[in-house]
Amino acid sequence: MNSLSILDIVEDTTVDGPGFRTAIYAAGCPHRCRGCHNPQSWDMDNGRRYSVSCVLEKIKEAEFANVTFSGGDPLMQVEAFTELAMQIRSETRKTIWCYTGFRYEEVIASPRLSQILPFIDVLVDGEYMEDLRDESLRFTGSANQRIIDVAASLLRKDIKQLHLRADGYTVASETRTSGDGYYESAVLDPEGNFAY
Ligand code: SF4
Repeated sequence: MNSLSILDIVEDTTVDGPGFRTAIYAAGCPHRCRGCHNPQSWDMDNGRRYSVSCVLEKIKEAEFANVTFSGGDPLMQVEAFTELAMQIRSETRKTIWCYTGFRYEEVIASPRLSQILPFIDVLVDGEYMEDLRDESLRFTGSANQRIIDVAASLLRKDIKQLHLRADGYTVASETRTSGDGYYESAVLDPEGNFAY
């Protein structure tokens, strides 16, 4: 069984995705973004080791919270986070958001990085770009970062982005297939689940 190097586990956060969430902050990040809020997160050795089952138990203890993988970059430990995501999927009904500094195109092109995709709901992708910092954005730091509906993107072999509106719970979901593009609406309930 894999183990995880973790900086912190925070229960009932509301800033790492919609609703109350248990956030798992992974140690280790290769991106070194200018203006990174937490350079201490770059070194994998700054984390504390947890077994996957130990993290799973902490997640299950927060009965009404969904889950967010953040960091650092969780995809630095993609094997262990995939195992954790699979167990969350099989033992709970919790949704999983995963933040990464990699772009979706890089993730899907990599057999190693993409192994986690079938087991998460949302990927928030891209490095933090200081020049594109936008404090009005919810759940992202800079305008280049995208909130991606992973299941829909895998199904359509394209990138299906979610755009949050001001009320925070209603999103417009956009898919572009041939340059024409079309729009769908989805509703995020207060727990962070999608209803199409
Ligand atoms: S991806 Fe996130 S944690 Fe990594 S360097 Fe960029 S801002 Fe920092």
